[in-house]
Amino acid sequence: QAKQSGRGRVVLFDHKLNEAEKRRTQIMRDLPEAITNGEIVPYYQPIICTSKRLVRGVEALARWTHKDFGPIDPAELFELAHMCTMAGDLDKHLRGKAFEQVKPWLDNGLINYLSLNISPQDIACEDFATKLLGRLAAMAISPEQICVEILESAIVGDLESAQANLEQLSSAGVQIALDDYGTGFSNLRALLDLPLDKLKLDQSLVRALGANNKVANLLTSIMELAKAMNVRVVAEGIETRLQSTFVTSIGCDLMQGYLFSQPLPYAQMDAWLFEYREKVA
Ligand code: C2E
Ligand code: MG
Ligand code: MG
Ligand code: MG
Repeated sequence: QAKQSGRGRVVLFDHKLNEAEKRRTQIMRDLPEAITNGEIVPYYQPIICTSKRLVRGVEALARWTHKDFGPIDPAELFELAHMCTMAGDLDKHLRGKAFEQVKPWLDNGLINYLSLNISPQDIACEDFATKLLGRLAAMAISPEQICVEILESAIVGDLESAQANLEQLSSAGVQIALDDYGTGFSNLRALLDLPLDKLKLDQSLVRALGANNKVANLLTSIMELAKAMNVRVVAEGIETRLQSTFVTSIGCDLMQGYLFSQPLPYAQMDAWLFEYREKVA
């Protein structure tokens, strides 16, 4: 855009634009090596049930501290990985690591499931479900112990292949969650057409609670909708007791947020899970 509006203007933006572009290019250039070197790792955040306050699952979230740029925002990381068609490889690497690390937690009952974010192009890949189920079998992880989180935008793009993968996963017992619910189109069709087990209420909705009654009313009616569709609801971004009390009172099944724990590296989450179990039991 700027480039077409005349030479004089370009110069003004040139410097900053270049810096940002250079940074993005460098990140993309460093990505393959960072993946093979294991520099990008999964962190884990607990998912807690509202009824007994027990840990039910953990969500794996990617973390990368770049040697020059410091921590890279995961949203930007996946945007860039997608641009250089590395998102699939990155997720595959992260999933491998996560399966390995989480296996003992699953085996000794510290958690019931591992929740994985799946990028839109993966869920649209023809053999995605077959490959994932194969990996799980090889790891002796039961499909019921996995939840895949997909974005609405993923199914808007290529509904048919996404749907086929989700049907296959769901029939095998994998749980399916619709992530960031309430930020996009909140497509009702998706609720009808996809084999969903969970809706994850986006943290922006939780944060907006208390601003006015409208938000509380909206969440209450989403809960009714979810009940009618027989899907569980996970409230994301729970930071205060007030928020946790409210989402519990309207019938949310699960909660996740800094009130319980930030996403933590493996060893720290391991310690946290044992400590939490002692505290609640
Ligand atoms: P998401 O799946 O909706 O993840 C929830 C985000 O909320 C995470 O941000 C998490 O750190 C943050 N969060 C959790 N609790 C709280 C809270 O109480 N307060 C606030 N303010 N934030 C909270 P994060 O880790 O920056 O990830 C952002 C997005 O990047 C994720 O959104 C997900 O869409 C994507 N992402 C992260 N890791 C992966 C991955 O391994 N694979 C793929 N495909 N996507 C990933
Ligand atoms: Mg998620
Ligand atoms: Mg989310
Ligand atoms: Mg999100």
